[in-house]
Amino acid sequence: MLHDCTTMTEEQQQRDSNALYPPKKRLKSAVWDYFGYPKDAEGVIQDYGSPFCKTCRKQIAARGSNTSNLLQHLRDHHPALHAEIKVGLHI
Ligand SMILES: [Zn+2]
Repeated sequence: MLHDCTTMTEEQQQRDSNALYPPKKRLKSAVWDYFGYPKDAEGVIQDYGSPFCKTCRKQIAARGSNTSNLLQHLRDHHPALHAEIKVGLHI
């Protein structure tokens, strides 16, 4: 049964490494509810590259705090989420 324990641990680790996190700099944009960056093996958020869509796991080309590509991705691929985020931005 030791093998079962090992498998479970590996699955848990994989789930952790698949989690996405917002940039370390606290950007106020609501898009970070829908996009995020992975952490590296040491738990450091890789927020210098392109963020990943939490919904479809695609990597979106975006530089720094430029979120227009992210909004465009939501609009094109997840219209329901885009509508949601627009409501949020109006507050
Ligand atoms: Zn997506």
